[in-house]
Amino acid sequence: MLTRTDLRSAVPSPVELRHALPRAEVDVDAVIHQVRPIVDGVRERGVEAVLEFTERFDRVRPESVRVPAAELTRALDELDPAVRAALEESIARARVVHAEQRRTDVTTQVVPGGTVTERWVPVARVGLYAPGGLAVYPSSVVMNVVPAQAAGVESLVVCSPPQAEFGGRPHPTILAAAELLGVEEVWAVGGAQAVALLAYGGVDTDGAELAPVDMVTGPGNIYLTAAKRLLRGLIGIDSEAGPTEIAILADATADPAHVAADLISQAEHDPLAASVLVTDSVELADAVDAELEIRAKATKHSDRVTTALRGKQSGCVLVSSVDDGLRVVDAYAAEHLEIQTADARAVAARVRSAGAIFVGAYAPVSLGDYCAGSNHVLPTGGCARHSSGLSVQTFLRGIHVIDYSEDALREVAGHVVALANAEDLPAHGEAVTARFES
Ligand code: NAD
Repeated sequence: MLTRTDLRSAVPSPVELRHALPRAEVDVDAVIHQVRPIVDGVRERGVEAVLEFTERFDRVRPESVRVPAAELTRALDELDPAVRAALEESIARARVVHAEQRRTDVTTQVVPGGTVTERWVPVARVGLYAPGGLAVYPSSVVMNVVPAQAAGVESLVVCSPPQAEFGGRPHPTILAAAELLGVEEVWAVGGAQAVALLAYGGVDTDGAELAPVDMVTGPGNIYLTAAKRLLRGLIGIDSEAGPTEIAILADATADPAHVAADLISQAEHDPLAASVLVTDSVELADAVDAELEIRAKATKHSDRVTTALRGKQSGCVLVSSVDDGLRVVDAYAAEHLEIQTADARAVAARVRSAGAIFVGAYAPVSLGDYCAGSNHVLPTGGCARHSSGLSVQTFLRGIHVIDYSEDALREVAGHVVALANAEDLPAHGEAVTARFES
């Protein structure tokens, strides 16, 4: 079922590998011309434009966009107890992990009387996006809100697409998750119009006001990503998270049923999702293919899964050793990387590029999607070569605080003047010497 790329005779260089490996072609620039009128419309006409785009793309026109507090409470009251318990566990585990990862301020004494402190200050107001097109993601509410709260962000607003079957509100599980997390502000808006409304602010049909945010985070489809790209600068963004990906580095010791199940679990997200197996075992590759044939037919979202697995973004890469496999997965820089080899911990320790690494037979990606405690908003499309997933750090700004005494400045004054003159900026030096003229 998976198209094979055979690199057993030679593994190309990292740059060549990037072109040789299967990957979704997601051309965000190609939809910019569709998204710019949405962004401009919301900037000029606010919620009126939001409702027009919502009617066009989500096929529903809610009476108002902000979700009343009573509906958040009701959604939680009516939530299936098993789902509530699972969400509570997911939140508790994520809170433990994220709370420990908050950076603390560091003061360095450079010389006696001269210190530099890096002070971490949370972003004041953020917009958090939980997708709701092909699937609804209450788990993404958890993964956005927990790090923002752990960072100390004071003002949070969650946006998620309105659903026609729920009267133009986001899916009730999204609302219940927001209520569980203590989020008070939820707006029923999706895609590019959500990012634009968050960036520019707006006034709802009933007068409720959405104050502009400083930053927007969260995964979404290509239209949401294009809007993030257009509005970056006016607002901060986390990353341009595209269609989801899994790479599995496996050897002959891996269980083909587990490998196939994990490849399918990722393909279930999206017909553009990428499922890539990298292995030094042709026997394993054959066995995984056989499992995929059976499981892909039997699973609920069979059409979507089959399209994703047969797409050119998915495939099986044959290598001659686990070492070569490591070179391949580093060049691919998957959003999710599973290591299913002998001595998986040692192999995982050598990986240099991945959004998140899942070690061994009992750490499937689905665990990380929901209940590992880690974050599931991760860089896709090879961005793991330079970027990290969502974390407490995403919502913090490091401010350098420079505190020098008179003596400490006098001691270094000559060097400042020399460098200022070397850059032909003598007034910079004079700003220092003026302090010692008398
Ligand atoms: P979505 O919420 O991102 O998009 C739905 C919105 O798209 C709708 O509200 C609609 O307004 C807009 N839209 C639809 N068609 C449009 C068009 N023709 N023009 C303009 N706007 C249009 O939900 P989705 O579509 O299901 O996408 C979610 C994506 O997020 C998937 O690719 C999934 O794999 C990904 N995801 C990624 C992560 C991660 O951590 N990287 C996590 C969860 C989901």
